[in-house]
Amino acid sequence: MRRPMKLSNFPIMLAILFALSILSIAPISTPAWCGDSPAIARVLASPPAADLGMSTKCAYCGMKLYVKKDTPSAEYAGKHYYFCDNSERDSFIAKPEKYLHKVANK
Ligand SMILES: [Zn+2]
Repeated sequence: MRRPMKLSNFPIMLAILFALSILSIAPISTPAWCGDSPAIARVLASPPAADLGMSTKCAYCGMKLYVKKDTPSAEYAGKHYYFCDNSERDSFIAKPEKYLHKVANK
């Protein structure tokens, strides 16, 4: 005996797939933190070419450094910040406002 199993299940499968695709896309397209947090620090993959060779101060400890291709860098509120090493950068990214005064006063 043959039953039209595949055909009758097709709309249900489509509905399930559709629901799954909405569930998986929704968190990416509408991040909840986007609206109430204007400035989020993020890691830069590498310093912008314009900043290479520039003399600056580590935004974490205030040590003088020159920006090189592999200098750990971050972007916060539209500005670039540089660090001695990755762990200092990670500390800055976790709480940027705590360290901003180091680069702000001169
Ligand atoms: Zn440092």
